[in-house]
Amino acid sequence: MTRNGDPLLLTPGPLTTTATVKQAMLHDWGSRDEAFIAMTAEVRARLLTAAGLDEGYTAVPIQGSGTFAVEAMLGTFLAPGAGTLILVNGAYGRRMVEICRRLGRRAVAYEVAETEVHDPAEVARRLAADPDLAHVVAIQCETTSGILNPVAEIAEAVAAAGRSLLIDAMSGFGAIPLGPQPVSYDALAASSNKCIQGVPGLAFVICRTAALRAAKGNAPFLSLDIHDQWRGFEGNGQWRYTPPTQVLAAFRQALREHADEGGVEGRGARYRRNCEVLVEGMKSLGFEPLLPAALQAPIIVTFRTPDHPGFSFDMLYEGMKDRGFVIYPGKITEAETFRIGCIGDLDESDMRAAVAAAVAALADMGADLRGAAA
Ligand SMILES: *Cc1c(COP(=O)(O)O)cnc(C)c1O
Repeated sequence: MTRNGDPLLLTPGPLTTTATVKQAMLHDWGSRDEAFIAMTAEVRARLLTAAGLDEGYTAVPIQGSGTFAVEAMLGTFLAPGAGTLILVNGAYGRRMVEICRRLGRRAVAYEVAETEVHDPAEVARRLAADPDLAHVVAIQCETTSGILNPVAEIAEAVAAAGRSLLIDAMSGFGAIPLGPQPVSYDALAASSNKCIQGVPGLAFVICRTAALRAAKGNAPFLSLDIHDQWRGFEGNGQWRYTPPTQVLAAFRQALREHADEGGVEGRGARYRRNCEVLVEGMKSLGFEPLLPAALQAPIIVTFRTPDHPGFSFDMLYEGMKDRGFVIYPGKITEAETFRIGCIGDLDESDMRAAVAAAVAALADMGADLRGAAA
């Protein structure tokens, strides 16, 4: 299956975007022109709507991929001299520990296995034991495995301890609410090319305006300083440095389409259905998901590499690619795995076609996995 002659991307971003999102890029904009200033303002307002926020929060777009926004958020909000508790259960958590090390900020990792989530009571205990830990950083969905972390419960423990919470909501923002009730946080980072279904090149930090004001002067860098970037937008509506104009135009279109689909609820419902169809289909072929259903976010699914003499991931990859689907290698360290994403401009019929492509790829390699799990 292809679209515009391209394979469908079953990856966690960049992902398959709509034709209308791609078409939105077919113009040139002057970055200091009124039309572009209005586009920036619309994107910032729509981001707050997508986050379910209004008063007291602000959305600050930043050039770059998601990691740029995470680094910008950490460098801007972590007070020099203060310590930070980072909840780690995968590569993105470990990356934040490394960012703190480079920034010269004291980071303490609370690390659990890649197939486990953090215990909010243990977060509370660690905060009580170490009064220097002014901040906690949590990841909503650890894309390394596809696990959904209990951010709402963690947020409660952080608030009860009177500390500040920062969230990497990269791969869930726009499709998975942070909790059943609104969750209180100081800042959250995400990017254009995940559940909002824009193209890559733009990220953003959504933050409490009072916390952002208080963060003035923290950042050890210039171009990623979220406070300064915000001052620029609030001053004349413009970007401080050359913005990715076409990427922003595509992102505005993607945010409009997100709202038209019913916002977080509508998008999340489609992804949950994609995920169900994928998991059921792959299980029927004999593949085993790494995570129990209760911990699985409807974003990307990690499957164990089958222990079958005829099976090869490279052949599955090539066989599915030939049939128009790009899948993803595994990233976890604890087991041999591969991953298949269920986000992007895809629906359940695409997921059924992906499973059919896996059937054909298995037939090519002569590997029948059913009954092989012994
Ligand atoms: C995608 C992602 C990021 C950012 O990755 P980039 O490659 O820089 O876009 C950060 N955290 C999580 C959890 C992610 O899924």
